[in-house]
Amino acid sequence: MATTTKKTKKIATPIDERETFVSLQKTFADSESNTEEKLKILYDLQNADNAIEKLVQLRGELPAEVAALEADVEACNTRIADLERVISQYNDNIVAMNEDIVSLDAEIEKYRQQLEKISNSREFDSINKELENLGILRKIDEKKIGESRDAIAENKATIERVNDKLGVLDIDLEAKKEELARIVESTAKEEKVLVKTRDDLAAKLDERTLSAYNRIRASVHNHLAVVTVYNGDSCGGCFNTITPQRLIDVASGKKLVICEHCGRIIVATPDSAE
Ligand SMILES: [Zn+2]
Repeated sequence: MATTTKKTKKIATPIDERETFVSLQKTFADSESNTEEKLKILYDLQNADNAIEKLVQLRGELPAEVAALEADVEACNTRIADLERVISQYNDNIVAMNEDIVSLDAEIEKYRQQLEKISNSREFDSINKELENLGILRKIDEKKIGESRDAIAENKATIERVNDKLGVLDIDLEAKKEELARIVESTAKEEKVLVKTRDDLAAKLDERTLSAYNRIRASVHNHLAVVTVYNGDSCGGCFNTITPQRLIDVASGKKLVICEHCGRIIVATPDSAE
């Protein structure tokens, strides 16, 4: 580590360079009553945001699970369509082979009739040779028909397996969709109210304060920009100890107290602020 550790008097937070509560400290200090009001709004705003987040978490993995199941169902349907196309090709082949056999049979019949009127053995041999060749061609067609039928049976068995899987997926998908719809329905009203509350509170704050709030919220893993005192003497955001003087300031409810470790605002819980 080449960097020298400088002892800075300034409160250093990871997001000190941008709009934070630290950079707003002077603005807040203007009047105590103003600060008290702002702290109350920020505390309520944080609570509303927490509640909204909880509702969203209630949906949890369901939206992703529904999307994954829908993709699986689509893949199964595509597979079935492909297999059906292959079967239809084999069926076309069988029809073509059968037509070929009909024309071969006609030719064979024609040669057989000729055989009956044969006068010399050379002609007899040549026609028999023809018949033999035609018989081979007929056998090849029959073999191909047999192979096509086997392939069709195999593909049909695969379709059945995919269909079974599809049935299971459909049941699962319907259940998950219903569950998600139920949660969304049951929380939609609550969420709307919370969002309205949140927006109303946000509108009461000046832009810099709101920006600081949003910035800190976005930068910390638990999305808390405003925290209360934890366990009597610690920051509820990072759990570092708060100095006694700062604790008194927090309890007063009239001063902006920023955690020197994490940059969050520390407020008194309404009950203890009295
Ligand atoms: Zn902290």
